[in-house]
Amino acid sequence: MTGTTATGLPDPTSPRTPGDAALVATVDLQAIRHNIDILRGYAGDAAVMAVVKADGYGHGAAAVARAALSAGAAELGVATIEEGLTLRADGVRATVTSWLHGPGADFAAAINADIGVSVSSPRQVRDIVAAAEATGRTAAVNIKVDTGLARNGVAPGDWADVRDAIAKAVAAESITLRTVFCHLALADQPDHPHNDLQATRLDEACADLEHVGVAVPMRHLSNSAATIARPDLARDLVRPGIAVYGLSPIPENSTYGLTPAMTLTAQVSHIKKIAAGQGVSYGHTWSAQRDTTIALLPIGYADGLPRLLSGRFDVAINGRRYPGIGRICMDQCLVDLGTNEIGDIAVGDRAVIFGRSDRGEPTATEIADAIGTIDYEIVSGVRGRTIRHYRDGDGPGGEVS
Ligand SMILES: *Cc1c(COP(=O)(O)O)cnc(C)c1O
Repeated sequence: MTGTTATGLPDPTSPRTPGDAALVATVDLQAIRHNIDILRGYAGDAAVMAVVKADGYGHGAAAVARAALSAGAAELGVATIEEGLTLRADGVRATVTSWLHGPGADFAAAINADIGVSVSSPRQVRDIVAAAEATGRTAAVNIKVDTGLARNGVAPGDWADVRDAIAKAVAAESITLRTVFCHLALADQPDHPHNDLQATRLDEACADLEHVGVAVPMRHLSNSAATIARPDLARDLVRPGIAVYGLSPIPENSTYGLTPAMTLTAQVSHIKKIAAGQGVSYGHTWSAQRDTTIALLPIGYADGLPRLLSGRFDVAINGRRYPGIGRICMDQCLVDLGTNEIGDIAVGDRAVIFGRSDRGEPTATEIADAIGTIDYEIVSGVRGRTIRHYRDGDGPGGEVS
């Protein structure tokens, strides 16, 4: 056991084995390596940046980073400088690029820790140049261009200012330009012409920089969906996130051979018989149609199981599916075991909340679809009392920590 919760807090009641823990997110590092392998195949000659923002989409950034790098990922991507610093504190030495900076961003800390930063505005160029001068070191800078997502990135009206400020800072050797990139708005519709428009605008921005004498060593725009479905957009580097974790980035399509890395299980903590007509959980939104047996699971919305999912999910216990019933509460929820006539479910057995479809388990994607969201939100939302545990492979002997 790692002895920490998914939020990174020490777990005072850390059990001796994950089988004893009430709520465990098991992350299979072999699945991460397998997924990187698949993504490298799609990337062709382009390098792979594994995106490990939001604590590795809830899987643990440092462990995922190490597994991804060992499988041939060239570098790492995070949203914030703080996420990059956390990777460094965990001993990760690879190239790390961050791209989301507020007005209080600690660019000096990023420069000192060799974390790449990305500019989205003229102000950020000024702040990074000032931080480079203050630290006496050269900052590795990326330019994030808003080519049509209209979120982060240099707006068209700021482009000339940013371009000229970058040219000046490169000439003064306070920064080196590492990459120029953008993020796609409609990558999950791979054939949408907007993807091509964004690629063209990125190429134009790079040509414009080269026109004023600034060399662009690398350019990139592909997230998971584009990496898989639009290899023609790859340029020098691809930036997959969700596919690293084994979830398909393109709705209602194939799994592309990806393996989901996270399996979330809860220990059956109580089993009881209830009589026909008995209402269950707050509001009695579900009532037994017949005498039945119900099981209590110690997972609720404070652990990342959305309350909206009440009555709309199944769990797998000992290889069979059982429906969730009644309201999901803050700390617990219930499933209907039916007559449990086989009597094959006992207190202490583990219920799979989501895992892998090839094992007959519900998936994070299935849960997301049931409530109209995306699996990104389900896996990155696992929290609360969940303990994270790593395995290496599916079989016996895969225990890591
Ligand atoms: C999150 C993120 C990615 C990864 O996106 P996925 O859809 O998870 O592959 C890539 N690039 C940027 C800029 C991001 O913010």
